[in-house]
Amino acid sequence: MMTDYGSLEEHVERLRALSFEIGTYRPPSEGGSASLLLRVSENCPWNRCAFCEMYKGQRFGYRPLAQITADIDRVAAIRDEISAVSAKLGMGAEITRELGSALLAQGRDLLGNPSFVTVYNWLAAGGRTAFLQDADSMSMRPREFMAVLKHLRQTLPSLTRVTTYTRSKTLSKRTPEELRLIRAAGLDRLHVGLETGDDEVLDRVDKGVTSAEQIEGGRKAVAAGFQLSMYWMPDLGGRERWRPHAEHTASVLSAIDPHYIRSRPLVPRPGTPLYDEVTQGRLQLSSPHERLEELALTIAGLEVTSKVCFDHAMNAWADRRGGLLFRRDYEGYQFPEEKPLLLERIREGLAADESMHVHARRLMAAQSL
Ligand code: SF4
Repeated sequence: MMTDYGSLEEHVERLRALSFEIGTYRPPSEGGSASLLLRVSENCPWNRCAFCEMYKGQRFGYRPLAQITADIDRVAAIRDEISAVSAKLGMGAEITRELGSALLAQGRDLLGNPSFVTVYNWLAAGGRTAFLQDADSMSMRPREFMAVLKHLRQTLPSLTRVTTYTRSKTLSKRTPEELRLIRAAGLDRLHVGLETGDDEVLDRVDKGVTSAEQIEGGRKAVAAGFQLSMYWMPDLGGRERWRPHAEHTASVLSAIDPHYIRSRPLVPRPGTPLYDEVTQGRLQLSSPHERLEELALTIAGLEVTSKVCFDHAMNAWADRRGGLLFRRDYEGYQFPEEKPLLLERIREGLAADESMHVHARRLMAAQSL
């Protein structure tokens, strides 16, 4: 409903009073500030992975359905206020630079209001995508999760894609019918941290899932019609287990054949058990060339029709001229067609001096700060 009453000052006053919960994390491929972020649960129900610092020390909780739907209503109210101001200023409800200037001229403090900024940016990008936070939305009771999705789709009809994080273990526990109904209620894409397909490494990092469950969960999600985006972690096996890590990861991913496979090389984060393992010498990380050898083995073993992506700063290997070895976009390399090209790029990286990779990574890490 268009809120077309009141002065600009009154619209800004109402915008100041509207807020909804937004979590911290989302995948980079979720469109930067183009996606609407909505929190349906808080933190991670597992919270034990040895490499992960994201929700450490924070207690997991489901948000009551009434709170989530009220948040969705507040998003709609912010949208309506912004559109009303646009119409009032003769911009036909369009989201333009002039509209932003007019709103900020009236209320500069809106810039410090995350709810307003999120909805404004989302509308400016077309209002098409939403990402549901936090770490495992599919662990919600299916009936409640479907109610959230239906309310979201009805209230924000401009959405064309709704995505979320979940765990392989959770997917493996859902029935095919539950997954099909959740898909039909309006969830399009799932982001899942696979990390490795090697059971020994899965156990060592306390991932809380087996490779058989990863395959079961992934296949069920694909069969239910979800777009599946899976992340694996080069070097998680360290120097000792790089080969089984690569081989088993390739075979699990091949058994699932997800739509996207995304590389997230290991970065030991302070405050995690894995960081302690590395600093105490119990886990030895690979050199840039050794990581590329591991990558070559993983890629060679992939029998998939997925898109393989290097859309994160930690994939900053260099070629012999100092350029980036891999494309960084979110759509990546289409398999099987581009598998030979990717293997050729890895050979190119192996021919470059190792110091170039170290330099490229430092550069990318500095740029992403
Ligand atoms: S399931 Fe995901 S968010 Fe939770 S601890 Fe593991 S990696 Fe972190």
